[in-house]
Amino acid sequence: MPTVLGLEGSANKVGAGVVRDGVILSNRRATYVTPPGHGFAPGPTGRHHRGALLGLVADALADARLRPSDLDAIAFTKGPGMGAPLSVVAAVARTLAQLWHRPLVGVNHCVGHIEMGRLLGRARDPLVLYVSGGNTQVIAFSRRRYRIFGETLDLAVGNCLDRFARLLQISNDPSPGYNIEQLARRGTRLVELPYVVKGMDVSFSGLLSHLQAVTPKLLASGEATVEDLCFSLQETAFSMLTEVTERALALTRAPHLLLVGGVACNRRLQQMLQTMCQARGAQLCPTDERYCIDNGAMIAQAGWEMLRVGQVTELAQSGITQRYRTDEVEVTWRD
Ligand code: MG
Repeated sequence: MPTVLGLEGSANKVGAGVVRDGVILSNRRATYVTPPGHGFAPGPTGRHHRGALLGLVADALADARLRPSDLDAIAFTKGPGMGAPLSVVAAVARTLAQLWHRPLVGVNHCVGHIEMGRLLGRARDPLVLYVSGGNTQVIAFSRRRYRIFGETLDLAVGNCLDRFARLLQISNDPSPGYNIEQLARRGTRLVELPYVVKGMDVSFSGLLSHLQAVTPKLLASGEATVEDLCFSLQETAFSMLTEVTERALALTRAPHLLLVGGVACNRRLQQMLQTMCQARGAQLCPTDERYCIDNGAMIAQAGWEMLRVGQVTELAQSGITQRYRTDEVEVTWRD
């Protein structure tokens, strides 16, 4: 029974998880949270992960009641993501692989999300909406690749939310997106904002710069509250995502829509997609926050699939890559 340790750390979460034949044995995570008004820069984020990762690995093994000798491979996030955090995780993965004499499996982070969602949602061939702080993609499997049908042309939707939270000094604890979601529930007035959809692609940079320009004036004049602005941002951004996802669903005729990534936790986004899926006779498969937010178990699961077909990574090829598109990976483990 192949057992894989997965290490993740492409952004501000760092995690270690163990998967054995479709069973998640452990999943430990730590988050680097910055003060209100601040994002997470690569250097300090990497230092946070360096301080946390070995403890998380020890805890993940203890939770799984395993010793290093019980592992068959060490999977790690090769990319995409931020350079310093990725480098820290890759260095730990390489060190453990050599100490424990186990093969390395370099995993594409986006593929990790998809494989975890496929495991949990039990949808074999879903259309995937991957929405997070670093990525916004509509993905479907075709001819041995996870093909990108639609994506953001600039900012990821989560980055747009994070930067709006920064503008308003909204807390980053537990995450800016969570706090925007709570504020948005009390919003009553919809402020008209730029809505940019191009085919199956979306763009959020104009929406963000418009908000940055008008927010001080709207708040000062009392035309809108912080709650109204959070509500309007969510309604606009999530409508864009729902529109492009519906277009991809119509094209692929997929029976299931898998929702993954940190923004996938948002209940309002889930609700909008649910309404759209119901109208089309498709089934929405959301993942819960333990697994949709970046985590080690998802890297272990993708690594398990790759190990199964012998797709391991030589030490000399184990460097990180900040830009690593989902469709660069040959998905040899699926028919
Ligand atoms: Mg992610």
